[in-house]
Amino acid sequence: MNRILFEPSENRGGEVRLAGPRAHHVWAVLQAQPGDAIRAGEVGGDRYDGARVVVSTPSECILRLGEASPPLLRAAWDLLLALPRPKCLRRLWPQIAALGPERVYLTAAEKVEKDYWGSTFLRPEVYRSLLVDGLAQSGDTILPEVEVHRRLKPLVEDVLPRRYAEGRRLVAHPPRAGARNAAPDKPPAYGAGIVAVGPEGGWSDYELRMFEAAGFRRVSLGPRVLRTDTAVVALLSLLTLPPPR
Ligand code: SAM
Repeated sequence: MNRILFEPSENRGGEVRLAGPRAHHVWAVLQAQPGDAIRAGEVGGDRYDGARVVVSTPSECILRLGEASPPLLRAAWDLLLALPRPKCLRRLWPQIAALGPERVYLTAAEKVEKDYWGSTFLRPEVYRSLLVDGLAQSGDTILPEVEVHRRLKPLVEDVLPRRYAEGRRLVAHPPRAGARNAAPDKPPAYGAGIVAVGPEGGWSDYELRMFEAAGFRRVSLGPRVLRTDTAVVALLSLLTLPPPR
């Protein structure tokens, strides 16, 4: 945990009392003593980089928050993700939150298996804590907005073109077979947009044509076919890098 996060309901007039794993982390990993400053943050709110430890035991921690600083800026690129298998989605939630997109769309695709829709990791009360883990890791405080769309076509044709400008809509797809040495079709540098990552079986030809007809540009990360979760992290990292000074 690079930031100890607490819920707004735990903030009692600038003082926060933590129990359980967070208190244990402050005591055992940070080895914070009363008077030490640690980084804290309110989920959905401000960061407190100099929160003072008032009490630290294995089971209880009391923090006095002090001066607030605003949340980190959102990453400029949002993610559309064809619903992956449950264990992949479970692995992905904290990583997505750590990379800071404002919005994540989970959606159907021809090669998404129907029973994935019953996954427990699609339930907000389950994935929220995985997202919070990712925020605590990256030091962020803002959860991404999650939208679930059971139908891909209206999302791609109607919703997304209204939200993301021409040239800022990307669909990730490995280069065609036989194009082993093809130069990667690089994503454009910087600026807000959305990138669509396909299911384990990849986007179908029909879906790729639909994306392209809706103004999505095909981008590739080169000839290596990456697992969905690796592709998500690689694309969001690549697109989110700050411009060179
Ligand atoms: N056999 C599938 C195919 O050829 O499309 C593999 C799909 S891959 C496991 C899952 C998703 O990750 C793809 O649909 C794509 O969005 C993304 N992906 C994986 N490797 C990629 C690469 N080299 N370039 C761009 N996107 C990639």
